[in-house]
Amino acid sequence: MNKSIVGFIFVFLWTVSAFAAPLSNVLIVSIDALHPDALSAKTTPAIYAQMTQGAYTRNGMSTDPPLTLVSHTAMFTGLSPAESGKSDNNWQPGEPTIAKNTIFDLAGSYGFWTGYYYSKEKLGFLVNPAVKDHRFSKDNAVDKAFSPIQQPGNHFIFLHVSGLDSVGPVKGWMSQEYFEELSFIDEMLRSLIDTILQKGDYLIIITSDHAGHETVHGSNHPDDFKLPFVIVSDRFKVDRFQNIAYRVVDLKPILERLLASDSGQSSIH
Ligand SMILES: [Zn+2]
Repeated sequence: MNKSIVGFIFVFLWTVSAFAAPLSNVLIVSIDALHPDALSAKTTPAIYAQMTQGAYTRNGMSTDPPLTLVSHTAMFTGLSPAESGKSDNNWQPGEPTIAKNTIFDLAGSYGFWTGYYYSKEKLGFLVNPAVKDHRFSKDNAVDKAFSPIQQPGNHFIFLHVSGLDSVGPVKGWMSQEYFEELSFIDEMLRSLIDTILQKGDYLIIITSDHAGHETVHGSNHPDDFKLPFVIVSDRFKVDRFQNIAYRVVDLKPILERLLASDSGQSSIH
């Protein structure tokens, strides 16, 4: 084999492997009860860094009613409460779980290992056979998500973080205590996000299920429906998501489009 052919094969293989590098980590973080106006460079520096690096909107909209399990079911299935049949906010271990296709079925179909870590027991409703690993941990869901991300391979992880949903109803949304809790959450997420950024080939989405006002949530008050949507990636152009009128049912179709375009490899950059 002469030198030029060897050179050509080398370049060809390098090109193929470069384009075929798998999307390494998809991380979706839902910070329960996060009001979009609470995010800023001062209050949430780790999240804000991702907002400026990627794209974001403060015009996110929850389900009606804007409640934790109803909203997360819409996120996972892409279906409204009327379509999914889940319009109440209750679930206990042992009761039937979701019977619709979810974002985990989608991720599994693209070959991702799937993990689901959540800090409210009722979110166990959304565990289905497409979830490879799942843990309910009231205080340590972030830590549970950390260990799989450190492993080699392609991970698709949904992380639900509690805290603001406890402080808001007692001390009030946007209260000093609310911001203290948010600062703590931001700091916890920092090392998780940094680990993913270092590995490369990532898609990170940071969002919420609903907000609240004063010490109330789940009502018809406009603030109760508000939520942020932050998207950042070294793989996809995300500027099209800046200031969009995002609804929680949009999460699954957004992921469907991104993962489909990534598997095509050529049309995304
Ligand atoms: Zn909630």
